[in-house]
Amino acid sequence: KQPAAIIGAGIAGIATAVRLALQGHRVTVFEAQDSFGGKMHQFELPGGYRFDAGPSLFTLPALVDELFRLAGRDPQDHFRYERLDPITQYFFADGTRLTAWADAGKFAAEVEAKLGVPATDVTGFLRRSGQAYAATESTFLHKSLHKAGTYLSKDVLGALAALPSLGLTGTMHQRHASAFTDPRLVQLFDRFATYNGSDPYQAPATLSLIPHLEHGIGAFYPEGGIYSIARSLVELAEELGVAFRYNEPVEEILTAAGQVTGLRTAQDIYDFGVVVSNMDVVPTYRRLLPTQPAPERTLGQPRSSSALIFYWGVTHDFIELGLHNIFFSQDYRQEFRAIFEEKTVADDPTVYVNITSKKSPADAPAGHENWFVMVNVPHNQGQDWDALIQKTRRAVLDKVSRVLGHNIEPLLRAEQVWDPRGIEQRTSSFGGALYGSSSNNALAAFLRHPNFSGKLHGLYFCGGSVHPGGGIPLCLLSAKIVAGLIN
Ligand code: FAD
Repeated sequence: KQPAAIIGAGIAGIATAVRLALQGHRVTVFEAQDSFGGKMHQFELPGGYRFDAGPSLFTLPALVDELFRLAGRDPQDHFRYERLDPITQYFFADGTRLTAWADAGKFAAEVEAKLGVPATDVTGFLRRSGQAYAATESTFLHKSLHKAGTYLSKDVLGALAALPSLGLTGTMHQRHASAFTDPRLVQLFDRFATYNGSDPYQAPATLSLIPHLEHGIGAFYPEGGIYSIARSLVELAEELGVAFRYNEPVEEILTAAGQVTGLRTAQDIYDFGVVVSNMDVVPTYRRLLPTQPAPERTLGQPRSSSALIFYWGVTHDFIELGLHNIFFSQDYRQEFRAIFEEKTVADDPTVYVNITSKKSPADAPAGHENWFVMVNVPHNQGQDWDALIQKTRRAVLDKVSRVLGHNIEPLLRAEQVWDPRGIEQRTSSFGGALYGSSSNNALAAFLRHPNFSGKLHGLYFCGGSVHPGGGIPLCLLSAKIVAGLIN
């Protein structure tokens, strides 16, 4: 087997390394930073607050277990997680509070009690979503959509033809608005568009299957936090002989006669017949393959949203909050118009607060909490971020203080901010977009970059900027597809 190089130790790069090592390749991972994880890194703030920097919501843990099983290990010995119940605390602009229970019947009963929506509307919707997910999952997520064999196969054509009968036509918002008359419930389900950085008013109805992941299959919390996903898989990769070279950014992918031949870094030139880029696909072409023709149409697809995150050490314990908390905006349509059309941050944004110390008490001192406070924002296009950060910080403090009836600002003992510029700088993600290109049109799934190069033999792509898309589960699936293609 050819030696293989992976550019980037993001979650997809790590998972690809595990799979290729198991397939008998000698694997080297080149990472620009001094450690692994990419967006999934962790850090601490003074005073004893630990934070997962990026992802906080974890679904489809079986995709992590699968890697340990492939290696002949019992996942339980390396990576443990619990199923969340409840999943999320919702705070609506009109003062309504709602707990999203994992159990569909209990959740539906809560919706009936708090919103007055018949429980059967919710259970019926979730059941139909589950059926539609089962009918489309293997086609759209588990295979390369860009190999003629897949593209023309009966199941792809069959899945596409079945979309209308599954109720998956129009936009995501249209599907929810036709299923529910209560605008709060529509807003709750529309929010799932943000799970891949999209706009529910533009994204296709197929994205309304995302809630099924959480309410059908479950949302999970890994022991020790999200970072332990990356850490446990790096440990597995190292056991399998994968070499990680940190602080060694790749500067060029070397090619000859339509074939990848190796890599150049500041330290050395290396020979490799197989190269997998886990770096965002846009800078992979622009910076590492400057003399190769780039697939401009693909690279020009609109970006997904980015995020503005305030990491706060809070000197109080809020019993009404859980691990995941959502403080909704009053006008959701205006919020997405601000992000995707006006390229700015809404005056009244929806605020997401993730508190891992609810599950991992060691993440904050006793009686304190570690708040990861996130607002969806556009990707970086040169906006005045310093001004937007000030404006948004004020809006978030006012809103959360008002809803909780407790002035938050005096409780902040430690603070750090991550904005789209910083996300881009730290991970090389184009514009700091969290999930590569957005899914704001019906063809987005087909317009993402394939997991292989059509021009350069031996060049492959994994990670959130390529097929099947961003987010932890899809990144893990990209690794599976790449390993399958190389095999
Ligand atoms: P990345 O994490 O982007 O890592 C790429 C790696 O490549 C980096 O380590 C980078 O340093 C390295 N690199 C880049 N260029 C080079 C080079 N030239 N040479 C060597 N190395 C290089 N997903 C969820 O599932 N749930 C969530 O709740 C969620 N919330 C999120 C919140 C935030 C704030 C962020 C930032 C992301 C969130 N995501 C979430 C998305 C998720 O984090 C990403 O989809 C996923 O982690 C991306 O992994 P990746 O493998 O594509 O690589």
